[in-house]
Amino acid sequence: MSIRVRFAPSPTGYVHIGSLRTALYNYLFAKGQNGKYILRIEDTDRTRFVEGALENLIDSLTWAGITHDEGVFIEDGNIVQKGDFGPYIQSERLDIYKKYIDELVEKGHAYYCFCSKERLDEVREKQKEEGKTPMYDRYCLGLSKEGVQKRIDAGESYVIRLKVPEDTDITFMDAVRGEISINSSEIDDQVLIKSDGFPTYHFAVVIDDHLMGITHVVRGEEWLTSTPKQAVLYKFFGWDIPEFVHLPTVLNKDKKKLSKRQGDVAVSDFRKKGYLPEGLVNYLALVGWSPKDNKEIFTMDELIEAFSFDRVSNTGGVFDVDKLNWVNAHY
Ligand code: GLU
Repeated sequence: MSIRVRFAPSPTGYVHIGSLRTALYNYLFAKGQNGKYILRIEDTDRTRFVEGALENLIDSLTWAGITHDEGVFIEDGNIVQKGDFGPYIQSERLDIYKKYIDELVEKGHAYYCFCSKERLDEVREKQKEEGKTPMYDRYCLGLSKEGVQKRIDAGESYVIRLKVPEDTDITFMDAVRGEISINSSEIDDQVLIKSDGFPTYHFAVVIDDHLMGITHVVRGEEWLTSTPKQAVLYKFFGWDIPEFVHLPTVLNKDKKKLSKRQGDVAVSDFRKKGYLPEGLVNYLALVGWSPKDNKEIFTMDELIEAFSFDRVSNTGGVFDVDKLNWVNAHY
């Protein structure tokens, strides 16, 4: 099997140290396995899109020496896409998502929902009062095909939801945490297509990972709770599920999330302060992964050689600026 991984950031602002480490682990794994590393841009949340963020992202990755084989590049100041599986920018893939959502609706695995925000809020409030986990109450599940069409023709706003199967165990493998299993009764009928016609992250990510032949999904652990919803989609489409590798969150010395306020989160801040890319990358590799020996200073080639997921920790990795300074001083 030829290994294919992807880094799939959303262009929503500056590049976070945690994102750089995710990109790095994808890169190290791909290079070590003679695989391909792809850069895909997940820009379907139009409310969070930031002008210039894509350019900034590619610039930071290039500076760090984490170069991709396929996907989105900048050449002579222009955004270009290279590879056989494009487009690699999700907002340019809407017709692809349309084809797959139609298939799901046709098979009865997804349904149109016309509920207003007010109604959804009311339902959620009531469920909370009753001590239940807020979930969509499937009010629109029974609508007929004709009824749905009439309302669409009348210009009513709608979303398309996943019809989560009843009482089924959803199981997947995570390379860091082992087998994970949850019952489908805990999963909400996720929105797959939003009222603006764009897919949600959950839907687009599954379609793209499958169509782009991704074998290993390597991403931050904040996405772990999304994986069962994605696993349901793989099942409905009859597609092989990739291997998942959820990386521990990068924390500061106080074991809290890195924050912009403390100035230890944006890659550009470290760059401005004069840190060398080799030093930052070397140190970041060690935040959440430990080599077999206690070696601490690595070139990129040595990291590629030594890196493996079985030595990635399942608890938060601590990003210690003093330690970074120590590593950086070796370059
Ligand atoms: N677009 C997501 C992000 O911004 C990527 C999640 C994933 O890798 O599946 O982090």
